[in-house]
Amino acid sequence: MITDLFINNEFIATANKQRVVNPSTGEVIVSVSLAQQEEVELAIKSARNAFDNGPWNSISYLERKNYLLKISQGILENCAQLADLESSNAGKPIKESSFMDIPSSAATFEYFANNFEKFLEQETIQIQSQIANAQGSLIRQGRGVVVLIVPWNYPLLIASWKMAQALAAGNTVILKPSSLTPLTALELGKIIALAGLPKGVVNIITGSGEAIGELLCSDKRVDMISFTGSNSVGKKILGYTCENVKKTIMELGGKSASIVLADADLELAVNGSLCSIFLNQGQMCTAMSRIFVQDEIYEKFIKDFTSKAKRIKLGQVLDYETQMGPLISAQQREKVIAYVEDAKAQGAKVVCGGVIPDNPALQKGFFFEPTVLTGVLPSMDIFKEEVFGPVACITRFSNADEAIKLANNSDYGLAATLWTKNIAAAQAIAKSINAGTVWINTYGMFFNELPYGGLKQSGFGKELGREGFLEYTCLKNIVSDTTPEGRPLVNYWYGF
Ligand code: NAD
Repeated sequence: MITDLFINNEFIATANKQRVVNPSTGEVIVSVSLAQQEEVELAIKSARNAFDNGPWNSISYLERKNYLLKISQGILENCAQLADLESSNAGKPIKESSFMDIPSSAATFEYFANNFEKFLEQETIQIQSQIANAQGSLIRQGRGVVVLIVPWNYPLLIASWKMAQALAAGNTVILKPSSLTPLTALELGKIIALAGLPKGVVNIITGSGEAIGELLCSDKRVDMISFTGSNSVGKKILGYTCENVKKTIMELGGKSASIVLADADLELAVNGSLCSIFLNQGQMCTAMSRIFVQDEIYEKFIKDFTSKAKRIKLGQVLDYETQMGPLISAQQREKVIAYVEDAKAQGAKVVCGGVIPDNPALQKGFFFEPTVLTGVLPSMDIFKEEVFGPVACITRFSNADEAIKLANNSDYGLAATLWTKNIAAAQAIAKSINAGTVWINTYGMFFNELPYGGLKQSGFGKELGREGFLEYTCLKNIVSDTTPEGRPLVNYWYGF
């Protein structure tokens, strides 16, 4: 297991260590090196030098593509080990890591390897005006050094999204995983070393965001910050970057809405809604934590949803039968419990869960039962704030207009889901919903081809697709005068 920082293609051990905990058991898995000011400086120097003087920016597109494909291959070859590590460290059921997180990480490197050249294609614009003719060439290049800061809920996947796009665009990177879940990011260092990337192109440093975040984000030698995480940290990062005016993308929190219309396929809507709030223990930025159900089917939906929620199998994460693991930490569980207690005090009804499971085998981990609350009103804190846990809040509505108003009654705008057999109506509703992604009769389908990212306080900037990729590039407009007489426009002013 890799436990050291990866800087300039070397693994660097530090005297300061940090313990990494398995949230299923509460036990320490391993201690990893911890970056401080000295290692941040080394990482920035290394990435800067690799961008300014290294070959990464000047090698052929074919070579760049081959490096990215090797990383993808490396992830796939180590899929089982990475899935074990991700599950043990992030508390994710092994079924999810093995079939989703790890293969999807590899697929993102492969997708951008195969498509970046097309996305970087130069565009030429001919301009004819009364005073001069010109040709503008639009070229897209890497921005320079990009710092990638990622959360603990999808540690390798979000790191891979960011890294694949940033590298394919020609940048060099410094990846900072969450201190809670650094293990798969550190393994990525080994895969990158084996893929033979030039020195300094990828640097991976672990460390507390509080301790090293400002150093990383405010430094003039860093050109861009790509951040995924909470709103409170996102705002701090915006503060760090304003002095030196940097490009940032912010993928922040959510309070997403699922609307179940009376004409929905009920079984599909129930199963889909379960996934949308209980996968990854509800620790998903796109968790459908607010479920709106139309009057006609409300009682039946609650009955079916609750009876299935009770059947979700909690267990140790390396067991393939396990459907729900622990929350990431004791602190996170305390936060979720406080939200549920507060909602009860404000009048919501707990129809299932709301407690720590009494199974003796789960007492050392940070488990919490799948929880269903009904009677949740827009005035309640739990309606407005991100809980980031397995808590479904169900509210009834009478017509589509009311459902749209309820869904849009949020400071966030990350995602939404619509359940109905009337696809034309769903398409129309989708246009009225303030969210960066709207799923119809499905949940959680992310594609490398489709740009993803929130509206309102869920952030700005996109990840994935052509538009997400272009965030990691700078656009230059190179203009040449093509006036037939060969008299450049400037002669008009001072043509002595
Ligand atoms: P977090 O904001 O606490 O941490 C995210 C990252 O920021 C971590 O690597 C952390 O070490 C680092 N960090 C902390 N303080 C910092 C500082 N002062 N300067 C720089 N970096 C700092 O978030 P989290 O608890 O790891 O993740 C959960 C949050 O992430 C939720 O709000 C969730 O909605 C959000 N999220 C959003 C998306 C999305 O695509 N919109 C995806 C996943 C998670």
